[in-house]
Amino acid sequence: MKHSDSKCPICNGKKEQGKVTFTVDLGTNLVVIRETPATVCSACGEEWISNEVAETIESLVKEARVKNRVIEVIYFSLENVA
Ligand SMILES: [Zn+2]
Repeated sequence: MKHSDSKCPICNGKKEQGKVTFTVDLGTNLVVIRETPATVCSACGEEWISNEVAETIESLVKEARVKNRVIEVIYFSLENVA
């Protein structure tokens, strides 16, 4: 981890660990993933997610796609991933 990671590249604000609601728009379906761990800028609100989290989101979205609900709300959990 670089030290510069603690500063927002957009506004130079302070980045903080937090949880966000991540929304994936699939066109006909909307997948809402709550409690997604992310780094959030305390100044401008920009969000970053780790590669690991991104991969989990991808798996969750795949599962949601199979269910084919118009709106699927999931709570982020690594245990959800088959
Ligand atoms: Zn910022």
